Amino acid sequence: DDVLWCRDLYRFYRSGDEETLALRGVSLSVARGEVVAVVGPSGSGKSTLLACLAGLDEPDGGAVTLSGERISHRPEAERARVRSRRLGVVLQSGNLITHLSVSANIRLVQKGTELQTPDQLLEQVGLRARAAALPRELSGGELARAGLAVALSNNPDVLLADEPTGELDGQTEQLVLDLIRARAYDGRGVLLVTHSAAVTEIADRVIALSDGRVAA
Ligand code: ADP
Ligand code: ADP
Repeated sequence: DDVLWCRDLYRFYRSGDEETLALRGVSLSVARGEVVAVVGPSGSGKSTLLACLAGLDEPDGGAVTLSGERISHRPEAERARVRSRRLGVVLQSGNLITHLSVSANIRLVQKGTELQTPDQLLEQVGLRARAAALPRELSGGELARAGLAVALSNNPDVLLADEPTGELDGQTEQLVLDLIRARAYDGRGVLLVTHSAAVTEIADRVIALSDGRVAA
């Protein structure tokens, strides 16, 4: 009963005659109700893996499915459709459109579907009072929580997050981790890329990447 599954992922980067093998046959899965953390040194392929799992990058080999729907090796319009039905993504670069308010960002991802209202989503991350704020008016911690609210706004089966607690103070980090854990208890799957011990502590499983391979 996997919500996320990938098999034998390969990704090569070529620049001139330099070739980097960023992923060398990565296979993993995330079951319903499970939180999986991916750890590894800088350059081990974590960001490339996350981008391939989210369908934001196309692997050179292998396959990715979300709730049984393939997202790899399909036209961008199909990948975007699978993403918007199945997936929430929190990227380190931030996932908010800068000239829209926090609640407008949520409505944009919802595309008119009847889910939780922006205020309900923002209540969960303790940001209801900031619904009308623009991203640049938020602190680092508020921005991270707004990013999580946006990623959850289409009620996704799978949440993918790159360092979701990167810049947060202890109390805010705990709020975000509780929300992520609750997501999995609610029968969804979560995959996190992290360096933080506090994050791996809430994971059911930790996958170590080394040189583009699953090492442990
Ligand atoms: P991590 O997120 O673990 O730091 P990355 O996925 O960013 O690892 O990088 C894996 C490897 O792929 C590294 O050797 C990196 O230099 C290389 N790489 C990543 N992105 C590119 C790119 N756009 N062009 C060329 N090489 C890249
Ligand atoms: P572009 O690079 O063309 O501006 P984006 O990268 O913002 O597009 O989004 C590409 C697709 O991914 C869109 O279909 C969008 O709805 C979807 N998307 C963007 N952010 C998220 C998110 N946090 N969760 C789920 N889907 C998202």
